[in-house]
Amino acid sequence: MPAPVMPAYDRNNIFARILRGELPCRKVYEDDFALAFHDINPLAPVHVLAIPKGEYVSQADFCAAAPAELVVGFWRAVARIAHDLGLEQEGYRIVANHGPNGGQLVFHFHVHIFGGRQMSHRMGNMPRPSDRG
Ligand code: 5GP
Repeated sequence: MPAPVMPAYDRNNIFARILRGELPCRKVYEDDFALAFHDINPLAPVHVLAIPKGEYVSQADFCAAAPAELVVGFWRAVARIAHDLGLEQEGYRIVANHGPNGGQLVFHFHVHIFGGRQMSHRMGNMPRPSDRG
């Protein structure tokens, strides 16, 4: 059986629908470049997702296809969100899962911001939400 591959962008993915206001979210931040909201299935005391305002399936797609202003604006927003959440001094982790082997489940590029506890050094073993005991 062939290995799963990165799908094409689907305008009806969950995050696209949240971005269009068709589905609710617990918003923590929004500007011209990014929307951030709490993950529905948090893996840490703070678990926020930041998504760019545009149709990008992955980090690679975003970096290759998005206007430079959006790339800069999005990553600045990620830093600001972590700051506004009060995570800067104690530290936090940012993660972007890329494609099936990366554990990506929603194919609209997004960054996870984890904080509020000491993170494991076993980064390669981050569980999927469905793997939690
Ligand atoms: P991925 O594995 O694609 O990097 O992460 C997708 C994340 O989206 C998961 O952590 C999952 O809990 C979260 N998620 C899935 N559906 C929803 C939803 O409808 N609302 C919110 N807020 N988070 C979601």
